[in-house]
Amino acid sequence: MRYTITQDYIRTGNSRSGQQISNVRFIVSHDTGNPGSSAYANRNYFDRQQPSASAHTFIDDQYILEIIPLDEKAWHVQYNKPTDNRLFGADSNDAAIGVELCYGGRINFNEAYRRYVWYHAYLCDRFNLDPQRHIVAHSRLDPERRTDPQNALQPRGISWNGFIEDVQNVYNQDFNGNSGGSPNDEPAVRGISTRLPLREGDSGQFVREIQQELISAGFPLPRFGADGQFGSETDGAVMRFQKRYGLTVDGLVGTNTINKLREVNMQQHATTSVAFPLPEGIYRSGAEGEEVRMIQRALRHLNFDPTYIDGIYGNLTENAVRRFQSTFSALANDGVYGPNTRKYMQMELNDN
Ligand SMILES: [Zn+2]
Repeated sequence: MRYTITQDYIRTGNSRSGQQISNVRFIVSHDTGNPGSSAYANRNYFDRQQPSASAHTFIDDQYILEIIPLDEKAWHVQYNKPTDNRLFGADSNDAAIGVELCYGGRINFNEAYRRYVWYHAYLCDRFNLDPQRHIVAHSRLDPERRTDPQNALQPRGISWNGFIEDVQNVYNQDFNGNSGGSPNDEPAVRGISTRLPLREGDSGQFVREIQQELISAGFPLPRFGADGQFGSETDGAVMRFQKRYGLTVDGLVGTNTINKLREVNMQQHATTSVAFPLPEGIYRSGAEGEEVRMIQRALRHLNFDPTYIDGIYGNLTENAVRRFQSTFSALANDGVYGPNTRKYMQMELNDN
């Protein structure tokens, strides 16, 4: 396979009912509408929040991630829309695979787009569909409410027809258009595949990407950097990361570690002031730990220096919090760090 397809299904709930699709008749192309959110970020959201919506597959520059089995229904187009019935004789949720393109933020568009195109061709092959007739944009089915995936494609100079043409070309090249659509057919392509977990001794582009993730999560690789070689320095950083986030400390980069890396980096990315993340919760005199350090760093950065970045919420830290609070009439001057103080610190950090 040219690309690895990762199956990491969400748990059963509102998003994944487990109802079977009897016959896949078409594909609905989407984008997430949420720039910068990665495939795994979406998966984790649907797994945890279980909204009454979903799609089968999320694609970014690293993953083709199936979060719902392709023989189960996903909830990606409203049932009351008539166009899918008119075009395909069925509601999308009952007869279509929903594919989401992740884009924006730090996602490499070209890499994500290549995977998105390839996966559409793969689905056409697997389910014996015609790229010209059996792929439809969500925006066509629900034009009043939706603009996807053109919303993501057009700003990059790709028209809907151009997209379909790309799918057709990949289908012709990689799948020969002749495999008959049996679910067991392996598409007629050869290429790289990444085997998880990664470990010391591995090398290549995927290792490099993990190294970049480690660095941006605050686990630097001072000697070798993101060199694509999984050596002892990377191994050490992986284990420190795993320890910090309560994962099994084995130096192996599997789904859990990759997941957590994405999550940590996404949170940092979502915060305007990446350098000074602020903990949730309430901290007061007597508290200790990394969260207190985070508060202390932010206070120092905002010129309310607690004197020490020692992770101990003592008098000096309490005073610094009080001084900060006293500059906002909306804040109680109590020296306790809680949601309101956090909110104002966040605002100040964003302004600085
Ligand atoms: Zn959509």
